[in-house]
Amino acid sequence: PLNCGIVGLPNVGKSTIFNALTSAKAQAANYPFCTIDPNTGVVSVPDERLQKIAALIQPKSLVPTTMEFIDIAGLVEGASKGEGLGNQFLGHIRATDAIAHVVRCFDDPEVIHVAGGVNPLHDMDIINTELLLADLESVEKRRTRTERAAKSADGKAKAELAVLDKLLEVLNAGKPARTADLSADEKLIARELFLITAKPQLYVANVDEAGLTSGNAYTAAVEKRAEEEGAQVVRICGALESEIALLEPEERTEFLADMGLSEPGLNRLIHSAYRLLDLITYFTAGVQEVRAWTIRRGTKAPGAAGVIHSDFERGFIKADCYSSDDLFALGSEQAVKEKGLLRSEGKEYVVKDGDILFFKFNV
Ligand code: GDP
Repeated sequence: PLNCGIVGLPNVGKSTIFNALTSAKAQAANYPFCTIDPNTGVVSVPDERLQKIAALIQPKSLVPTTMEFIDIAGLVEGASKGEGLGNQFLGHIRATDAIAHVVRCFDDPEVIHVAGGVNPLHDMDIINTELLLADLESVEKRRTRTERAAKSADGKAKAELAVLDKLLEVLNAGKPARTADLSADEKLIARELFLITAKPQLYVANVDEAGLTSGNAYTAAVEKRAEEEGAQVVRICGALESEIALLEPEERTEFLADMGLSEPGLNRLIHSAYRLLDLITYFTAGVQEVRAWTIRRGTKAPGAAGVIHSDFERGFIKADCYSSDDLFALGSEQAVKEKGLLRSEGKEYVVKDGDILFFKFNV
């Protein structure tokens, strides 16, 4: 599954947020929650549509879709030069699909700030610079090799060299690789480099309770900077989330209502990370089970079937399909059929978010 790495300076609240994400009670109830290793957690993706479909179909079980979060601690100033366990941590980040960058936006004299004082823009610069330097180093190394190959008139190497030069220009200007202006072909070449700053990134502003609804001076600065970068910001109170995560679902609803909140901040984080990864959800719905599945936006029906089982993809014949919105509007599967809204889709059908699919396949 695709995953999102949680990065940030020490003591900004990464582990607090990660632990809240992976300990939230609802997931344990609905999904065989597992921790792959202490730093990797599988989190169910909250989706009201799942409950709404289940209410109409009355299945025996209900299974949400999931995504993975990885707590990547240990990134400090100088990591790209091997400070701390720098290179090892950078390696972990390189293996993720997207990055949630936690920034401290709360004051607390009890919690030491590694860079002297709370200053989110400075913190963002430190982390982003380390990530950038790590990329710069890998591109430079690669360039030395590629240049040699390009001399022997290797066409592929020449194409790669052009991409590397574009990336170097961007990185040397202090900008992340994701801002490089590359053609579709060049992007494919760049993807092989596993650059950290090419990955999509969002910021998590870790605030105190007071800053949660209306923000504070720190979040204002983070939001302004993020806007300039075209990045999303999710405001969260790590300390509060870890309390909420421990509550039973009924208690939780009450607690949130008392706080004037409609859902835990973690839900917003999960949804933002899901969007950042360009993921969408489709459903399978039968009397045995109603289940949500994750695919990349743009996936065609056979690929979507392959998420369930590779045999489904290999033997794909067609998919019967209707939209969950139509189901909600009309109130029953029967009504959807009578309105002629149940379609039969073939191999070229691009699955949409919220589709309910029934696959027909050869075995
Ligand atoms: P990490 O090093 O980034 O993983 O940071 P931790 O999650 O270990 O948090 C560092 C310290 O900050 C711990 O003592 C937490 O209890 C505290 N902390 C985390 N989130 C919050 C928060 O929202 N408010 C306050 N006041 N303290 C927090």
